[in-house]
Amino acid sequence: MYNDIIAFIRSTFNEPKAFIPLHAPVFTGNEKAYLNECIDTTFVSSVGKFVDRFEEMVAGYTGARKAVVCVNGTNALHLALLLAGVAYNDEVITQPLTFIATANAISYCGAHPVFMDVDKDTMGLSPAKVREWLSTHAEIRNGGCFNKTTRRRIKACVPMHTFGHPVHLDELMLLCREYHIELVEDAAESLGSFYKGKHTGTFGCVGVLSFNGNKTITTGGGGMLLFNDEKLAAHAKHLTTQAKVPHRWEFVHDEIGYNYRMPNINAALGCAQMEKINEFVADKRDLAQRYIDFFKDKDMDFFVEPKECSSNYWLNVVILKNREERDHFLTETNDSGVMTRPIWQLMNRLPMFKACQRGDLSNAEWFEERVVNLPSSIRL
Ligand SMILES: *Cc1c(COP(=O)(O)O)cnc(C)c1O
Repeated sequence: MYNDIIAFIRSTFNEPKAFIPLHAPVFTGNEKAYLNECIDTTFVSSVGKFVDRFEEMVAGYTGARKAVVCVNGTNALHLALLLAGVAYNDEVITQPLTFIATANAISYCGAHPVFMDVDKDTMGLSPAKVREWLSTHAEIRNGGCFNKTTRRRIKACVPMHTFGHPVHLDELMLLCREYHIELVEDAAESLGSFYKGKHTGTFGCVGVLSFNGNKTITTGGGGMLLFNDEKLAAHAKHLTTQAKVPHRWEFVHDEIGYNYRMPNINAALGCAQMEKINEFVADKRDLAQRYIDFFKDKDMDFFVEPKECSSNYWLNVVILKNREERDHFLTETNDSGVMTRPIWQLMNRLPMFKACQRGDLSNAEWFEERVVNLPSSIRL
């Protein structure tokens, strides 16, 4: 039934028989040279020139004033929330349609996720739905936002740019300002995605990128914090390095810190990958355009970037009619060696988040039943 799609994907990836993964990394630049340099100089660990260079390259590309590397995106999110002031027993608004890391990071702070719906045109947090919920559930007291039912403080809001598609940031920023809530962007999937010409992850007080093996660029494992506030960035750096106060020999630590700093060897990979970022994003957008052209006269909807946005199309999305058709599509494509995958189960269905507060989630539920990711690797 889906033979034409399978044939199209195989010809697009120039792969007549072998398995086609969802997203594979490509190393065609200076990766080996930089890794060898780390080994030859013995600078493989948390000190070395690639760490600083990688931060500068990402800051330059995204337009953030400062970027701070972390061991992975999940602990970058944890730190981002701490830096936004999220504390024990606070509430944090986020979308249930996300990868587990978003909700886990909120839990690491001892805070409670509150799940709000996504928009149909972005698959990300809906400002309208959040506004509606806040208007009945929240009140402003002592310069902070509080949940009228639980009496807890609502400290932050974490939208996620699903599969690289930017959420409605102008509306979210306005809402957060009105309600005294900090905006923390989970931009783990959206390196190379721009909202009205500005890079995702640079709109709130802090944004988070991931460089896991399946992301747009990879450092093996890795993450990055993006800041416009240099003081906050300096504090982030301090926290990633066990909050050690610089001294020639004494071990002085002035708060509880973390060992979240990315090693030089991973940053070396990151520098080589960042040298190719424009090529990578252009290639991914070209692939998406091919999918768009292919699905034009098909009875299936290919998900396109939101208005006024330029998406990295990290993972391409096709929307099936219902769960049954989705499962049929997943079976047929995976049986033919073309990897496809459904979207995540909603966070509120998982045992550890079942009891969390939530608003109306009808759009998230609609996507959960219908979304399938198509092979999205860079073709070189
Ligand atoms: C990949 C990802 C992260 C971070 O994951 P790490 O594997 O820890 O780098 C966070 N949030 C979302 C939505 C992601 O897709």
